[in-house]
Amino acid sequence: MGKSSKDKRDVYYRLAKEEGWRARSAFKLLQIDEEFNIFKGVSKAVDLCAAPGSWSQVLSKKLRETGSDVKIVAVDLQAMAPLPGVIQIQGDITKISTAEEIIQHFHGENADLVVCDGAPDVTGLHDIDEYIQAQLLLAALNITTHVLKQGGIFVAKIFRGRDISLLYSQLRILFPRVTVSKPRSSRNSSIEAFVVCQDYSPPEGFKPSMTNPLLDNTSCDWSTLTGVNRYIVPFLACGDLSAYDADMTYPLPVDEGGKYECKNPVQSPIAPPYEEAISLAQKFPGPIVKTNPDTEKKEDVKNSE
Ligand code: SAM
Repeated sequence: MGKSSKDKRDVYYRLAKEEGWRARSAFKLLQIDEEFNIFKGVSKAVDLCAAPGSWSQVLSKKLRETGSDVKIVAVDLQAMAPLPGVIQIQGDITKISTAEEIIQHFHGENADLVVCDGAPDVTGLHDIDEYIQAQLLLAALNITTHVLKQGGIFVAKIFRGRDISLLYSQLRILFPRVTVSKPRSSRNSSIEAFVVCQDYSPPEGFKPSMTNPLLDNTSCDWSTLTGVNRYIVPFLACGDLSAYDADMTYPLPVDEGGKYECKNPVQSPIAPPYEEAISLAQKFPGPIVKTNPDTEKKEDVKNSE
């Protein structure tokens, strides 16, 4: 019998079907664990952007194999079929309400691990896709600061674009060990990779805050933030006090004859779009009437310029 088109699919797709994973992504998390041992000692985890649920399946299997008192909270915009031991929330991780719902499930306890495989619908415009991906990651990071225990691990999908170093620096403020990992099951043709952030250690005095403007885009009262949570950048006015004030008007510097010499710009425009109008206005001081080809009405070109 000849091969069906499905047989020709990627090997991880076929393996996922054979082994019962909901998506081939399961292998990405499994391979990250092979390298970083992220499930060691983990009993409480959050899976952000979880649908259709292969990472939650991996978490459910791995955590329940080794530990008791397991808690897994999975969140996605999409609904997903139930999984043993997994609490599901359908919501947007950039919304404060979703973040609060996740936090509530921990009843003041902390998670050992937060994973996020979130991906926006790609537009094909790389800069925009990378930007939105980074915003999603920052929303995930904000939730993480509320639930992750000191020393915990955060794993998240990133797009390795031009400006990714900024994101690495932001992550390094909270995690001393940040590694970028590309599992074998992630296609080389994709700019996707995963940051593995270990040993959560926020700066002393850091208070997680829901006033982050990335969430919900609501305005917040920055003055309530104190200490390391708010850096006030020094503001310095410069220039001598006797220099001209840009917001004042000054009399023209007239000469002894009471005249002011108006100077042309040092660099005149090469071909300004209004050049023709100026030369016409100079030639014909009165109104310049032309017929508008769209309306066939006569219009005063000079006044409409
Ligand atoms: N890790 C999943 C698995 O193994 O089955 C696959 C995740 S899939 C690549 C990306 C998911 O991100 C989609 O299900 C999408 O709905 C979700 N997503 C994108 N933006 C989101 C947001 N703002 N809030 C919650 N989920 C989001």
